[in-house]
Amino acid sequence: MPELPEVETVKRVLEPIVIGRKINNIDVLRATIVNNQTNAFIAYFKGEEFISVSRIGKFIIFHLTNNKVLISHLRMEGKYIELLENEPNTKYARVVFHLDNNHKLCYDDSRSFGRMVISDENSFRKGKEIAKLGPEPFNVTDVNQMLAKAKRLSLPIKTALLSQEIITGLGNIYVDEVLFASKIHPLTPAKMITKKEWETIIKESCRILNEAIKAGGSTIKSYHPGKDIDGNFQTSLKAYGKKDEKCVECHTKMRFIKVNGRGTTFCPHCQIKKGAPLRIAIVGRIASGKTGVLDIFNKAGYLTVSSDEIVHELYQRKEIQEKLIKKYILDHNQDFLSAVREHLKVKSKDLESLEKFIHPLVKKEIENAFKKSHSQLLVAEVPLLFKAHMENMFDVIIGVDISEKKQLERLNIRDKEKSAFLKRINDVNNYFDEHRSEIDFIIDNNEDMPSLANKTHSIINKVLDRLN
Ligand SMILES: [Zn+2]
Repeated sequence: MPELPEVETVKRVLEPIVIGRKINNIDVLRATIVNNQTNAFIAYFKGEEFISVSRIGKFIIFHLTNNKVLISHLRMEGKYIELLENEPNTKYARVVFHLDNNHKLCYDDSRSFGRMVISDENSFRKGKEIAKLGPEPFNVTDVNQMLAKAKRLSLPIKTALLSQEIITGLGNIYVDEVLFASKIHPLTPAKMITKKEWETIIKESCRILNEAIKAGGSTIKSYHPGKDIDGNFQTSLKAYGKKDEKCVECHTKMRFIKVNGRGTTFCPHCQIKKGAPLRIAIVGRIASGKTGVLDIFNKAGYLTVSSDEIVHELYQRKEIQEKLIKKYILDHNQDFLSAVREHLKVKSKDLESLEKFIHPLVKKEIENAFKKSHSQLLVAEVPLLFKAHMENMFDVIIGVDISEKKQLERLNIRDKEKSAFLKRINDVNNYFDEHRSEIDFIIDNNEDMPSLANKTHSIINKVLDRLN
């Protein structure tokens, strides 16, 4: 879908093609484009001359003689293509304007979602779709207006910007870019955006849109004049489409989430989530004290969920037991969880497929528990957070760290079992170290319980600061 810079580029390319040209005739080849008013449309514009072309948001406005106005929206695939009269129409030509210089302007639209509307100089701004548009970032004079409008909105800032009602001109690509440059999390409630942040959003919107318009203008020059004026050009994007790539500012892995159904990429480190609820994951090695941290959150009154408990509960379910017995032919005379453990001791390569089966179920259970709760902080202990690719579910990741010596002490391991255990623990430790840069807070848990409680409460306070 073309965004504002593309539409601006299309407008600029159209100007020299149409200005001063009279419309000799019009062919409407797909009536829905002109809202099924084919005859009225042709009669209204035939014989008029184009005076100028302007743009409001993503609407192209053709100004013609006798105060007549043609409003055009390209939607998904619409484009204008200039041809000589003796050339065949383009494949998806829907409306063809025959000009008085032996040229024709084809409106081409493979999906036919675009629209052209009859209007005039007195009323085109009052139409429902145009009237609701906020100012373009280039025309914002008073940020207080944005602030006042947004104060009433609890929806995420990304959704508020896409609605075009606070400011106009940012589509899915440029909203991601602007929020990244402004260091604002896309899910931040619009009403929590401060005046200073609105100033940053406006400033970054102008800069990014101007750069894109400039890039569009320079790319389009290489085109055959008037051909393929769809304005698709490459710009240097930093957030959009960069899922799983490293953030250009801090090298953290970029994350991908859905915000009201729209794919959204952001950096969890540069764009910190504000506003309740905050979803918190606790990760750490075996016996590092994750459960201790979870308990502290629980005693402070927040919702807590343990993945281990969920897994335990899942294995008690009859339908899951039946599925696994079928799949792995488990010896089910003994306690089911022991049967699974015994099986994995013998056939360790089944671990991966078992995890593939169980992780999505765990994720669903956590989601359900979170959805039901009104707690401001939603906390889950998720030992295999990264392995299960569940990091996108959380706004804050807390790692609990412990020395190997303490770890062995806590596990109370006797000498003869040590080497086997060490190997297993080391695998987990390496994995934990690999993701260290993605962890927001690390608790060093080599001291006593009161110290663990102090450290955890200090994190709780820092996190609560993000709610106001
Ligand atoms: Zn970053």
